[in-house]
Amino acid sequence: MTGTTGAVVLGGGLAGLLAATVLARHVDEVTVVDRDGLPAGPEPRKGVPQGRHAHLLWSGGARTIEALLPGTTERWLAAGARRVAVHQDMVSLTAYGWQHRFPGTQFMIACSRPLLDHVVREAVLGHPRITLRERTEARALRGGADRVTGVTVLPLGAGREEDLAADLVVDATGRGSRLDRWLPALGLPVPETDRVDPGIVYATRIYRAPHGMAADFPVVSVYADHRDGGPGRNGVVLPIEDDRWMVTLSGTRNGEPGGGEAEFLAFARALRHPVVAELIAGAEPLTGVRRTRSTASRRLFCERAERWPAGLVVLGDALAALNPVYGHGMSAAALGADALDRALTEHALAPELAARAQQAIARVVDDPWIFAAAQDICYPDCRTDVRDPRLTTRAAERRRFAELIGATAIRSPSLSAATTAVSTLSVPSSSLEDPAVLAHLRRGPQRPELLRPPLKAAERELLARCAAAGEGVAG
Ligand SMILES: Cc1cc2nc3c(=O)[nH]c(=O)nc-3n(C[C@H](O)[C@H](O)[C@H](O)COP(=O)(O)OP(=O)(O)OC[C@H]3O[C@@H](n4cnc5c(N)ncnc54)[C@H](O)[C@@H]3O)c2cc1C
Repeated sequence: MTGTTGAVVLGGGLAGLLAATVLARHVDEVTVVDRDGLPAGPEPRKGVPQGRHAHLLWSGGARTIEALLPGTTERWLAAGARRVAVHQDMVSLTAYGWQHRFPGTQFMIACSRPLLDHVVREAVLGHPRITLRERTEARALRGGADRVTGVTVLPLGAGREEDLAADLVVDATGRGSRLDRWLPALGLPVPETDRVDPGIVYATRIYRAPHGMAADFPVVSVYADHRDGGPGRNGVVLPIEDDRWMVTLSGTRNGEPGGGEAEFLAFARALRHPVVAELIAGAEPLTGVRRTRSTASRRLFCERAERWPAGLVVLGDALAALNPVYGHGMSAAALGADALDRALTEHALAPELAARAQQAIARVVDDPWIFAAAQDICYPDCRTDVRDPRLTTRAAERRRFAELIGATAIRSPSLSAATTAVSTLSVPSSSLEDPAVLAHLRRGPQRPELLRPPLKAAERELLARCAAAGEGVAG
C-alpha cells in the first residue's frame, strides 16, 4: 500500500452521499459507486423509484444533513423548497382526531425527492476527495469472514468486472441490497432480520397548486385510525417546488389505492375526511397516477451478529427499510451517517470500527423502526416475521402508552412539542419518559377537541373555491 487510506461507498442515494461526506473527513480517497448515471439536475432516476412519491424530510434529519453539509437548507429553500413549521403550517387528521395548529417547534422541508437529492449530490460530489463511479454495479464483496478488503464492480456496458480495494466498504444500496448473498459468499451468516409488511401501496399524482394556494397553504394530511380494525388509508397534499402539489395516497393490504384517475379521486373521497379530495377536485393534474408496492419494513440486526467483518458498514435502507408513511427513512439515513462519523472519530480505521459503527447506527435507527413496526402490526393481514419483544409479548403495553400520549398531545401544546420532537427524530423517544413530559400527560388535554379541519378563514375560502371548481368539473 502507498499509505493512503481509501473507502468505497456502494450506492449514491442519500445514505451513500452522506456517508461519503463523513468518510472524506477521515480517509484520503472516497469512491462512490452507483449503478445509475446520476442526473445533473433535480430529475427522477431509475435507481430511486420512490423519488416520484411524497418525501417529507423532518427536522431531525434536516438538521443532521445541515450539520454534515452546512448551507444545504438555504440551497433547498433557494431552489423552491418550503420550510413548513410543525404543526403551525399543517392541517392533520391523526388517528386520534384533528391536531391543533400549535406554534411550530419543529419543521419539515417540503419539496420533491429529486430536488432534495440534487442539492446534496452537488455539494458532496464537489468534494476533492470524493470520486463518483457511475453506471457501475457492485457485484460482490472481497476479502473473507474476518475482513472485507474491497468490492468487485461491473462498469455497465464494459462487460468486464473490476476489483476496487478499500480499507472500508459502506453498503448504502438501499432496499435492494444484496448483503443476503454477499455475506454468505464470505462465509458469514445473514444477520438476524425482522420484517413487518402491512402491504402498503402508494399512489401519487402531481397537480398545479390552484391560484393563491402555492406559497403558504398548509400541508394537509389525513391519516388512518389503526384501531378501527380496517385497512389503513392515508392521504397527503405536499407542496413542492414550482408551485405544485404532490398528492400521495396510500392504503394497507385490501385497502390499496387503484392506479386510475377516477380511482384516485374516489380513494381520496373515502378517507376519514374528504379534505384531500376537496383540494384536488378542481386542481389541474400535471401527471398520471404512479404507484409502488415497495414499502415493507425490514431491519437487519448486524450489531447482533456473532462475527462481523472489519471493513464493512451497512447504512440507510440497506440496513433498515421503513414503511414510508411515517416519513423517517431519509432522516434515519442521515442520523446513521452521523453515527458513522462519531465512530470514525473514536476508532479511526481500527479493526473494531465496523462493529462499533454498526452498534451506533443501530441505536439511531431503533426509534424509527419501532414507530413504524409497532403501528403497522395493528393492521389486518399485516405479515410479520419478528422476534423483537416490543412487537410480540410487550406490544399491547407499548401500544396503550402510545395511544394515551397520541390522543393527549393533539390537544396539549407542551405535550405536542415533546412528541413532535420525537416524531421528527429530533430527540430520542426515551425523552417521553422525562418527568416533565409525564406531568404534561397527567394534566391531560388543554384545548377542546377539534371537530373539523383547523383551517384559517382565508384557507377555508380557498378550499371552498377548490371544492366548487371540482363540482363544476364533475358536473
Ligand atoms: C414510496 C416511498 C415514499 C417514501 N417517503 C419518505 C418520506 O416521506 N420521508 C423519508 O424520510 N423517507 C421516505 N422514504 C424512504 C426513503 O426513500 C429512503 O429511506 C431513502 O431513499 C434511503 O436512502 P438510501 O440511500 O439508503 O437508498 P436509495 O435512496 O434507495 O439509494 C440506493 C442507491 O443505490 C444504488 N444501487 C442499488 N444497488 C446497487 C448496486 N448493486 N451497485 C451500485 N449501486 C446500486 C441505487 O441506484 C441508488 O442510487 C420513502 C420510501 C418510499 C418507498
